[in-house]
Amino acid sequence: MIESASDIFILAIDGPAGAGKSTTSQRVARVLGFSYLDSGALYRCVALAAVEAGVVPDDDAAMAALISTLSVEPTADGRSFLLNGRDVSEAIRAPEVSQAASRSSACPSVRSALLAWQRGAVRFPGTVVEGRDIGTVVFPGADLKIYLDADPDERARRRSAELVETRTTDAESASLGKVKAEMAERDLRDSTRKVAPLAAASDAVVIDTTHSGLDQVVARIVAEATARGRVAK
Ligand code: C5P
Repeated sequence: MIESASDIFILAIDGPAGAGKSTTSQRVARVLGFSYLDSGALYRCVALAAVEAGVVPDDDAAMAALISTLSVEPTADGRSFLLNGRDVSEAIRAPEVSQAASRSSACPSVRSALLAWQRGAVRFPGTVVEGRDIGTVVFPGADLKIYLDADPDERARRRSAELVETRTTDAESASLGKVKAEMAERDLRDSTRKVAPLAAASDAVVIDTTHSGLDQVVARIVAEATARGRVAK
């Protein structure tokens, strides 16, 4: 049988920072035997390039010019990223890159370039794509759309713990108060921007992860995928 793009099962997982998208998406992809694409990391790679080149992240024309010089490639497991051939997997997690990504992602030039990159990165038999606008804009016809959310305090607590654990930044920047303030700023910008704002698709399954463990959330998503004809590996 010939496999066409329409045979690829697209599982979109959207939601705000700290809702548990990355860990959940990676686990679901493993259980279903799918590839995994972290669209936020693509936005982060572009933002890192802007920070390093001294380009103002919300200058649409300057960002368009910068993007034309970039090559961004996820590795096969979807966890590492090469920016012009350099592994930037750690550098893109720094808090200043989070803020720059949130600013540059409001630029139409950035969004349209990344739209094409994301659509070209899905693989047979299926891909779990996580982001902010996957179910609404990038893959509006996705086979399954999940919107993960959690209480803002809990999201900030998780993100702060992650920064401390991975030693991505200094202790002050990883403190709960600082992370909470930065996250609120990013959430506001991401959900009020004109192009592709963060929102749950009308046909998304909304899951609140505030009081749920990872296993429970993964099992729920796998069950939803199975109900749509996708049998776990
Ligand atoms: O998910 P993550 O926190 O890594 O994303 C970084 C930033 O990239 C977000 O704050 C958001 O502004 C932007 N982003 C986006 N659309 C996506 C994924 C991420 O605008 N699909």
